[in-house]
Amino acid sequence: MKAVTYQGVKDIQVKQVDDPKLQKKDDIIVRITSTAICGSDLHIYQGALPAEKNYVIGHEPMGIVEEVSSEVTKVKKGDRVVLPFNISCGHCFYCEHEMESQCDNSNRNPEIHTGGYFGFTERYGNYPGGQAEYLHVPYGNFMPFVIPESCELEDEALLFLSDVLPTAYWSVDNSGVKAGDTVTVLGCGPVGLMAQKFAWMKGAKRVIAIDHIPYRLNHAKKMNNAEVYNFAEQKDMGAYIREITKGGSDVVIDCVGMDGKKTPLEAVEQKLKLQGGTLSAIEIALKAVKKFGTIQITGVYGSVYNMFPLGNLFERNITLKMGQAPVIHYMPELFNKITAGEFDPTEIITHKVPLDKASEAYKTFYEHEDECIKVVLKP
Ligand code: NAD
Ligand code: ZN
Repeated sequence: MKAVTYQGVKDIQVKQVDDPKLQKKDDIIVRITSTAICGSDLHIYQGALPAEKNYVIGHEPMGIVEEVSSEVTKVKKGDRVVLPFNISCGHCFYCEHEMESQCDNSNRNPEIHTGGYFGFTERYGNYPGGQAEYLHVPYGNFMPFVIPESCELEDEALLFLSDVLPTAYWSVDNSGVKAGDTVTVLGCGPVGLMAQKFAWMKGAKRVIAIDHIPYRLNHAKKMNNAEVYNFAEQKDMGAYIREITKGGSDVVIDCVGMDGKKTPLEAVEQKLKLQGGTLSAIEIALKAVKKFGTIQITGVYGSVYNMFPLGNLFERNITLKMGQAPVIHYMPELFNKITAGEFDPTEIITHKVPLDKASEAYKTFYEHEDECIKVVLKP
């Protein structure tokens, strides 16, 4: 089959790889019909998260069940399914308590002790990814979210149930946003845009959106009616937010991660150059949050990243929440909201291309954020 493979830093190529095979009694194989590129894939693309050559990337897939192992009862050949990015067994402590992103049986790498994820390198379980024609899915009696036959929505409306939607929804839920709150969302990529929308839906009275790309800021304004600011135009964006909110934002959600697209090393250089400038999302968050407020970190920071100003958090009674979003238990609720027309996930799609064009698509998503928000690949 054809698959999107990592060949080296900023070198992604579609290659012929072996077809996946059923391995255990509860596996399934899914023929992928749509699969998206995520901001998280860019951490691999730019080398911040090291991957092996020829590793198959991708963790936002959906498609049609092609094969099922003997003990699979949840789905049958021909079912239309969305796969959550978390590998989750369904029966460990974490899966049974809605913390599927840390499933105890998902990461065979004992040194890391985290959950495992599709297409997210050896560090996170070494599962082949979903930017491919076919995907091997373990735990077929738990993982797949089955789309009812009666649902006539196109893939694009449902695909982001795999990651972006539950991630953004959890970010708002986990950070405890309540009616009347001021919520600041750092980053107007797909995750940030959806988090802004969900913050309104939770009853926020003010939603502030930060980025440095005018195209994406405009999108935040149009799509979410957010109050937008360009951090490149402010010497100290965090202090500015504190000022305009008269003391700080109740909740700040970091939907950026390891200093945007910069590798940790570049980030350090940048920081030194700016002598405490405001390009780091976490620094903005720290200043922008109210005393006793909450910072929710949804953007990915690998363990390579260790520049965290813990002291200041302590001094100001800040609650810090973070992590990989648990996806599966949010899927039915979000599916119902989509079918009820409460929001339209396709608003973030700017590019739809054949899987064959993945190499160009990565380049576009990485280098041309001024014209691209979300890319959907069609195998
Ligand atoms: P993206 O790269 O498209 O968006 C990031 C945006 O942040 C860009 O528009 C960029 O210009 C902006 N940005 C850069 N530095 C900034 C700063 N200092 N302040 C404000 N904005 C800044 O990515 P995405 O797909 O929206 O994903 C966002 C982050 O969420 C990524 O780090 C991704 O890995 C992570 N993620 C986490 C989970 C999870 O479960 N925690 C799931 C999915 C994605
Ligand atoms: Zn993702």
